[in-house]
Amino acid sequence: MKLVFASNNAHKLAEVRQMMPEGVEVLSLSDIGFHQEIEETGTTLEQNSEIKAETVEKWLRVTGYGLSVDGVFADDTGLEIDALGGKPGVYTARWAGEPAANRKKALTELADKEDRGAQFRTVITLIRANGEKLSVSGIVRGRIAKEEYGEGGFGYDPVFIPEGYDKTFGELTAAIKNTISHRARALQALVQIL
Ligand code: IMP
Repeated sequence: MKLVFASNNAHKLAEVRQMMPEGVEVLSLSDIGFHQEIEETGTTLEQNSEIKAETVEKWLRVTGYGLSVDGVFADDTGLEIDALGGKPGVYTARWAGEPAANRKKALTELADKEDRGAQFRTVITLIRANGEKLSVSGIVRGRIAKEEYGEGGFGYDPVFIPEGYDKTFGELTAAIKNTISHRARALQALVQIL
């Protein structure tokens, strides 16, 4: 089975390829020669993952490339902080600008809050070659740390402590993160429906 993953993020591609069962080949956007910027204009994670999958699916149909693949999938992730009513959510990547500023914003917004509960949520939309569209999701609950810990991972990893652990994703190994993370759980759900 050959699937296109609507991303060029090397970190995500490695994670996805590692999680796929034998016999499932994952192609990136550059592998198929798709070089357009996809604007994430949705107001929910569901909409944005759908926009990405649909844009690439349409391109596959128009170019004829779709004939040689079994489907396309796209993901979208948000950090949802309980005390902020689920913010930054769909705006997670661009909350304050770049990753360091985003982490700082999470810490300052929660500076006077007792409730530090939060979750990462990933939504994946799969469009099969026959046009069938399906979506799955994965969540990891946790809390926002009082300050940054660890150098590993990316994005908000140094400020997110997953439930059941007392270390941030930035301190935990990639092997641990990749078994419990939002994206890992969404990918496990995707594998179930392939
Ligand atoms: P995306 O939709 O996967 O691009 O994720 C949106 C934003 O969420 C990213 O820019 C990161 O800031 C954040 N994010 C997504 N996944 C993770 C993760 O595993 N750790 C930390 N931050 C993440």
